[in-house]
Amino acid sequence: MGSNRYMLFFTPDLINEPITYRMVKDFDLMINILRAEIDDTGGRLMIAFEGSPQQIKSALKYLTDNKVQIKELNEYVHKDADRCTDCGMCVSVCPVSAFVVDRGTWKIIFNSDKCIACGMCIDACPPGAMKLGQ
Ligand code: SF4
Ligand code: SF4
Repeated sequence: MGSNRYMLFFTPDLINEPITYRMVKDFDLMINILRAEIDDTGGRLMIAFEGSPQQIKSALKYLTDNKVQIKELNEYVHKDADRCTDCGMCVSVCPVSAFVVDRGTWKIIFNSDKCIACGMCIDACPPGAMKLGQ
């Protein structure tokens, strides 16, 4: 079994389509919705898949065939190491403890596998080192 986290982007015309429901049913996947947002520009769904690599690959193809844009969550939030001053602000705001302090070097380590793309560190980072992919 594999586990993969993605951000799905739905255009306004797709919001009311049962795309996610069909995906779960047709590909026998388990999903965990980490975050969901809908606004005038469409919907964004942060989702963790549980299933075999082949199941997940088929589900992703189904989504793209239905015009859902997909971004791997690990690609979605970035840390620009050149800008980071290791100030530690992100450590205190992150709700899922995605940052840790390396006690040897006092550098701030970003663990993207934990990130749920809440955006709090992006707002809190003084030099703008944390960024959204797009
Ligand atoms: S808040 Fe920004 S500059 Fe400070 S440690 Fe975190 S990523 Fe680096
Ligand atoms: S976007 Fe949110 S969850 Fe991700 S590292 Fe920043 S504060 Fe943590």
